[in-house]
Amino acid sequence: MKYPGNVFMVSAPSGAGKSSLVNALLKQHPDIHLSISCTTRPARPGEENGREYHFVSVEAFTQWREEDNLLEWAEVHGNFYGTPRSFVEEKIKKGQSILLEIDWQGARQVRQQFPDVIDIFILPPSIEELEKRLHQRGQDSDSVISRRLLAASSEIAHADEFEYVIINDSFDIALAQLEHIVKTANLRYACQAANNHKLFAELGISHSQK
Ligand code: GDP
Ligand code: ADP
Ligand code: 5GP
Repeated sequence: MKYPGNVFMVSAPSGAGKSSLVNALLKQHPDIHLSISCTTRPARPGEENGREYHFVSVEAFTQWREEDNLLEWAEVHGNFYGTPRSFVEEKIKKGQSILLEIDWQGARQVRQQFPDVIDIFILPPSIEELEKRLHQRGQDSDSVISRRLLAASSEIAHADEFEYVIINDSFDIALAQLEHIVKTANLRYACQAANNHKLFAELGISHSQK
C-alpha cells in the first residue's frame, strides 16, 4: 500500500536507547504519531496503561490477533507485543506520519505490508554499555536484565535488515541523526504532494506517483 503519510519503524536491543530517542524526537516533531502497542508484559513502575502500552491479558491479546486487529505481532522476551492496525491506517491515509517501536520480527511483517516504510536500527556503542544502561534504568529485575542481554546479540544480528543504522553513543548526536532521517523522509514525492496540494495542482503535476 502507498500512502502519503510516512511510516517510521525503530528497532533496537533492549537498553540501546530506543524509547529515550523516540520520545525526544516526538517532542520536536509533535506531528508524528506514536503507535501504542499492546503487550502482555506487566507494566513497569511509572508506566501507564494507554501511554507506553495497552497492557492486556493473553486472552485479550489472542482475541485481537484472531480478529485481525493487529498489523503485526510477535513474542519478545516471553511476552506478546502487537501493533493495533486501525490507528496506523487511519493516520497514514490522511497523510499523517506514524512511528512504530517494534522488534525485528514485527518489522518484517510491516515491510511486507508497507514497502515504503522507513526503518531504523539503533545500536549501542558496546555490549558493556548496553548492560550498564539496562542496570541504570533500574526498572527490570536482574533475571529480566539477563534474559534481555542474552537476546541482545540475536536481535543485533538482524540489524542488516534495516535501511538506516544509528549508533547511540552520544545521545545528542544520535538524536540529530534520527531527525535527519525524518526530515529527509518528509521530502519524499508523496509527502511533498500531500503538503503542497495547491502548488502541485498549479504546476500540473500529479499528486501520486506511478
Ligand atoms: P525495551 O526493549 O526495554 O523498550 O522493553 P519493552 O518491553 O518495551 O520492549 C521489548 C521488545 O518488544 C522491544 O524489542 C520492542 O521493540 C518490542 N516491541 C514493542 N512493541 C512491539 C510491537 O507492537 N510489536 C512487536 N513486534 N514488537 C514490539
Ligand atoms: P530501550 O527503549 O532501547 O530499551 P531506553 O530508552 O529505555 O532503551 O534506554 C535505556 C537506558 O539508557 C535509559 O536509562 C536511558 O536513560 C539510557 N540512555 C539512552 N541513551 C543513552 C546514551 N546515549 N548515553 C547514556 N545513556 C543513555
Ligand atoms: P476495552 O475493550 O475496554 O476498550 O479495551 C480492553 C483493553 O484493550 C484495554 O486495556 C485497552 O487499553 C486495550 N486496547 C485498546 N485498544 C487496543 C487495540 O487496538 N489493540 C489491543 N490489542 N488492545 C487495545
